[in-house]
Amino acid sequence: MQLQQNISLKPFNTFGIDVSAEYFVELEHAAMLEEIANDAALPKQVHALGGGSNILLSKAVSGLVVHNKLKGIVIEKEDSEHVWLRVEAGEIWHKLVMYAISNGWAGIENLALIPGTVGAAPIQNIGAYGVEAKETIESVTGWHWEERAFIDYTNADCNFGYRDSIFKGRLKDKIFISSVIFKLNKKPTFHTAYGPIQHELERMNIAELSIKAIADAVIAIRSSKLPDPKKIGNAGSFFKNPAISTEHFEMLQTNYPGIPCYPFSETMMKVPAGWLIEQCGWKGYRKGDTGVHEKQALVIVNYGKASGEEIWALSGEIMQSVKERFGINLEREVQVW
Ligand code: FAD
Ligand code: NAP
Repeated sequence: MQLQQNISLKPFNTFGIDVSAEYFVELEHAAMLEEIANDAALPKQVHALGGGSNILLSKAVSGLVVHNKLKGIVIEKEDSEHVWLRVEAGEIWHKLVMYAISNGWAGIENLALIPGTVGAAPIQNIGAYGVEAKETIESVTGWHWEERAFIDYTNADCNFGYRDSIFKGRLKDKIFISSVIFKLNKKPTFHTAYGPIQHELERMNIAELSIKAIADAVIAIRSSKLPDPKKIGNAGSFFKNPAISTEHFEMLQTNYPGIPCYPFSETMMKVPAGWLIEQCGWKGYRKGDTGVHEKQALVIVNYGKASGEEIWALSGEIMQSVKERFGINLEREVQVW
């Protein structure tokens, strides 16, 4: 095991925040998790790190950062309708999406170009354009640091919710996800209800709808709209879209007739957080090297040398102004370390 000490995490987080990790190790094999747990010389505080695309490093990280490099995709089983893939957690999510499409296996094409690793997909049940990872996750295997054993979690065990799972709740920081089994479909069901996908597909003028065409549409939209972390530091949507009661929504609609909303449950409406933030005047805001992206108010950016504390402080100011104006509590989607 190649243990490193006091290394900069700047290359390992898409915000590009420059703080150090006390200890750092690359996880090449799942068996190393047991070695780490059994090594009395290593700190007990362990942080799982994938692509670093959903974290805000607010300060130097004490303890051990375990960087996931577990690779491999195998077919567990298949029948005439489905294929079950076991995917090692360090595989790049978008590569998995492309691999599935090239084999004609459907279910994750709407999730093309989401940065990060497969092992992080269950953590917040990644979602985009009307599809969530939970729809194809059969089970998740993870090393339990306290139980000192690999444990399988069925889809139901994972308690998936909107950008949520048991791994963000009761099992937060207790599990290192080592592999995920996906059940993909040989006969696709297309999800094209989100307006931008429909518009892009029309613009592409394709002869026949396919999972490849949907992924191409998603890639085109995302590339035109979202800041590329290689150019401007960011972690995608900083906040979750809030769900509010129908009564609260109707009250807001009196003052803001144009407020967008989508049904969330029988009694709740989902309001785009980006719209709320934009209404509060934050879109395109910049202070020092922190700011709110000019095309998407839901994305907080680092123009260069912003610190984690500065980004944290800006996110707090945004939350405060949305609360004052709309009576809505925004929740940070990004995991703060
Ligand atoms: P990391 O940032 O490394 O980790 C995120 C959290 O998961 C951390 O708390 C970490 O400890 C934990 N974790 C990571 N791996 C493991 C593991 N193996 N075991 C246990 N815990 C682990 N998200 C969406 O849902 N939908 C989108 O459309 C979307 N678009 C994005 C666009 C951009 C430009 C960016 C920058 C981000 C976007 N995201 C989106 C957020 C992000 O890509 C996802 O949340 C992704 O799953 C994070 O993967 P990661 O490997 O980078 O995780
Ligand atoms: P958008 O199209 O500008 O729409 C704004 C919000 O409205 C979205 O967040 C989406 O909620 C919601 N929405 C739009 N059409 C909807 C419909 N038909 N039914 C239900 N909800 C609808 O969004 P965007 O910012 O460009 O993002 C596009 C997609 O990529 C979204 O699904 C978004 O979640 C995802 N994305 C996520 C991240 C991240 O970091 N988490 C970053 C970029 C993009 P939902 O978010 O619930 O889908």
